[in-house]
Amino acid sequence: MEHFKNFIEIQALLKKISAHEENIQSHQNRINFVETSREKRVQSRDTLSLRKEELTKESQELEKNLFDKEKDLTRANENSSKASNQAQATALENEIQSLEPQIDQIQESILTILEEIEELETQISEADEFLKGSLETLEELRSEVNSDIEKENKEISNYSNRMTALLEALENTQRKFFEQTLKNIKDKQVISFLNGKLCSRCRYEASSTQITEIENGRSIEVCDNCSRILIPSTINSF
Ligand SMILES: [Zn+2]
Repeated sequence: MEHFKNFIEIQALLKKISAHEENIQSHQNRINFVETSREKRVQSRDTLSLRKEELTKESQELEKNLFDKEKDLTRANENSSKASNQAQATALENEIQSLEPQIDQIQESILTILEEIEELETQISEADEFLKGSLETLEELRSEVNSDIEKENKEISNYSNRMTALLEALENTQRKFFEQTLKNIKDKQVISFLNGKLCSRCRYEASSTQITEIENGRSIEVCDNCSRILIPSTINSF
């Protein structure tokens, strides 16, 4: 019957180890969260920079265009004072009339673009601030998390040592059976108490032969339905 008690304690240790493994994962998730939000911010910063480059190029082209139109206007104005006939004067006047609104339009477009660039620069420097601050946070977090994980691993190692000792205390066949069952059961719940005639985990009814075997502690019996090792419920009170 001693092996039943070992099984129970090993099962309890497995549960504790799982809890510490979950803790490690949640510590790790804190880092993942910061890393993910930094990656997202880097991406959005790249998009902003790209847009800024496009707009800068666009405004440079507009400036060039503006420069040419202003040169045309100056020339038209100069020529108009020197016009030798009415037809020439009218043609120049028409050119001036057409150039002036074009120049206004270009200036307005440049202004709009410059405002947009300014807005982008604000957003880019906000992103830079965020990335700088969160890098410091990340570094602090990493050292904090590393020491937390180290503590968790120490606990896990203590429990594992105890578990190894308990497994070694079992007879060879009992140990192999337990280890094999542990591999097969996905949720690591290797044992199940026999509750009357029923497996307490899946409610499947054990045969009376099985029940006798279990109560005598002669052989290891598993639930025919969920394959867990069945343990007499009376062992709980030891
Ligand atoms: Zn079962």
